[in-house]
Amino acid sequence: MNSSFEALGLSEALVRAVTELGYTTPTAIQVQAIPAVLSGGDLLAGAQTGTGKTAGFVLPILQRLSTTQPASTSKSRKPVRVLILVPTRELAAQVEESVREYGKHSKASVCVVYGGVSINPQISALRRGVDIVVATPGRLLDHVGQRTIDLSQVEVLVLDEADRMLDMGFLPDMKRVFALIPKSRQTLLFSATFSDEIRTLAATLLRNPAMVQAAPRNSTVELTTQKIWLVDRGRKAELLAHMITTNQWFQLLIFTRTKHGANRLSEFLNKHGVTAQAIHGNKSQGARTRALNEFKSGELQALVATDIAARGLDIEQLPHVVNFDLPHVPEDYVHRIGRTGRAGATGEAISLVCADDKPLLADIEKLIRRRVPTEIIAGFEPNPSERAEPIVRQRGQGKPDHGSRGRPQRSAPRRDSGQQPQRPNSRPARQENPRQPARQQPAREQPATKSRAQPTRAAESHAAPKHARPSAQPRRATDNTSTVRTNLPGFGQPSHRRGR
Ligand code: AMP
Repeated sequence: MNSSFEALGLSEALVRAVTELGYTTPTAIQVQAIPAVLSGGDLLAGAQTGTGKTAGFVLPILQRLSTTQPASTSKSRKPVRVLILVPTRELAAQVEESVREYGKHSKASVCVVYGGVSINPQISALRRGVDIVVATPGRLLDHVGQRTIDLSQVEVLVLDEADRMLDMGFLPDMKRVFALIPKSRQTLLFSATFSDEIRTLAATLLRNPAMVQAAPRNSTVELTTQKIWLVDRGRKAELLAHMITTNQWFQLLIFTRTKHGANRLSEFLNKHGVTAQAIHGNKSQGARTRALNEFKSGELQALVATDIAARGLDIEQLPHVVNFDLPHVPEDYVHRIGRTGRAGATGEAISLVCADDKPLLADIEKLIRRRVPTEIIAGFEPNPSERAEPIVRQRGQGKPDHGSRGRPQRSAPRRDSGQQPQRPNSRPARQENPRQPARQQPAREQPATKSRAQPTRAAESHAAPKHARPSAQPRRATDNTSTVRTNLPGFGQPSHRRGR
């Protein structure tokens, strides 16, 4: 296996750029994807955020741009040669930043196109001419409608986080985009999961693709310590605030199921001495960017996010991910905990589990094929007689970027009304996605595993402030939890640190 960027056939300018970022060894997905993309063929890649997938496609694309000329130079404006479609604004901004960093010694130009911000600077950038456009589908189609972008000379199409784009209902928009770009092109499809819809999409879009897989499907991320705190439904917020303040944790990414839940939790945390902000699709783009920047700079202790808002966030060496609510879709658990233990750092993923969550936990444990160790924190012992209540399934948290043209027709309707869990005797919610039924079964009474013996020790094991400030300090797995390792060959090496 190649073990250096030079050996993968990348130019000196690109190798220099990644070296300056502190990358010494290509990750598993890079080792597989870079030569495949350089060869000019299509690619189907199974890779989630955190595997180094962005460099896996950006580096060979930059190389292609620097070594070939656009097919037609007849038009006065520089043609858009590469289109990278992504599901969310945050991911768009991150991919653009990566293109700039990896391309800092190359000549390629890039522009990012997403909604929620003024279209005019994007129009000006496009008018000047760019090689690479990173776009969310909605705003891209706004530009198409206003004739401020010409996609007729696109040579490479990348679908990044294709599963999430489908999940967010973008398929109709994506199809409109596909119809506008040349049929003869290179297409690269990246997806963390492979549903039937993704397979169908791949079958229609890709020709004889090389297939690469960064990690076995649905494996949990290397070096992430997973644990469960068993707690009563009504005491989750209190427990979380207590543990954050006691242990002086910084840089927690906390997931809730709903936007409303994210707002409520962030308010609660602020009232209890933890600086937190919610990030979700009802927030303006400015507010989301501000919250993310404050979080990254350490001004905020915690970011409370819905799945879609958090998707693709690249936050350096995130030490703690907390599932305040477990996700309905077990694969989302894998995505969530992929926010920690990234690029060689160890991290901790904690799930707060009450009686209602146990069926969701069972699904997750089935998917990851392991039991997650449980803890009971002293003073927060769950009431064994608490009855499970059904959780109303709500989808569409976070803001799909549909530009200004309204929402596309969805393959499955979604909503986020921020409702409370239903009472057991009330009518169950209408099933929103036939493939993922609403949960209405009472939970099993007993947790999968239980380590009641260690309550205080469990709390004490966190007592030394591991992150008095968000500076990157080495993290160690805590005592009575299991550290999950997978065979992600590119990671787990200390040299794999992000250099920015
Ligand atoms: P991605 O999966 O593309 O979002 O990348 C995840 C993180 O890994 C980002 O912070 C990258 O900067 C970092 N990264 C990507 N490739 C490497 C590498 N070869 N060595 C170290 N870090 C990397």
